[in-house]
Amino acid sequence: MQAAAVAAMAVHTILTASPPSPLLSPSIFTSLSHPEPSLHSSFQGISLKFPRQSLAVAASSKKSLSVVAATKKAVAVLKGNSTVEGVVTLTQEDDGPTNVNVRVTGLTPGLHGFHLHEYGDTTNGCISTGAHFNPNNMTHGAPEDKIRHAGDLGNIVANADGVAEATIVDSQIPLSGPNAVIGRALVVHELEDDLGKGGHELSLTTGNAGGRLACGKYNKWKLNIVLSSLVYFPNGFVDSF
Ligand SMILES: [Zn+2]
Repeated sequence: MQAAAVAAMAVHTILTASPPSPLLSPSIFTSLSHPEPSLHSSFQGISLKFPRQSLAVAASSKKSLSVVAATKKAVAVLKGNSTVEGVVTLTQEDDGPTNVNVRVTGLTPGLHGFHLHEYGDTTNGCISTGAHFNPNNMTHGAPEDKIRHAGDLGNIVANADGVAEATIVDSQIPLSGPNAVIGRALVVHELEDDLGKGGHELSLTTGNAGGRLACGKYNKWKLNIVLSSLVYFPNGFVDSF
């Protein structure tokens, strides 16, 4: 693209983005590398509030924007009838595994079952979130098992202060698509999940993890985009920010 065209585009963008304000000085346009006479005259009397150096960069260089990372993110705030509460943040890049970032407080020290349940319905407390999310009609298991509910995330471990912090990576709880977590709820349980291996009559359905201490629903995810910007200067210098 010609420098003059870049300058025109850059200035146009600046004009549409900047409301009228006290005029700096027409001399700011002397920093343009190839000022067009028609461009120059059309700006007479138009107010600009823009750093002189930035305008010079926009006019005499070429910018290239690229996406470094696009990450889907959804957050559930866990609450219940007890003092247990927490925040569980899910992030997923493209169709990769989901990172589950957990912080729950108010627990008794030790292991607590931690599952994604079917419904994001908490009208009757955590009990109305239904059973473990199980789109493939499996029995209950451990996160690393082939036969497991998609919602089986195992246990989180609370320390002596009752705080559980963990980062779980799991491939069965995507943020988008037919088996998405959106509209479902995370539940933290009273007891340890036996991961289907405890021999109790509830082992293969709930892991015998006891009551539901707190739960939180996933609403829409949002996209976090990280952009990298490279600026190519006429003298061959390349800068990034
Ligand atoms: Zn389960």
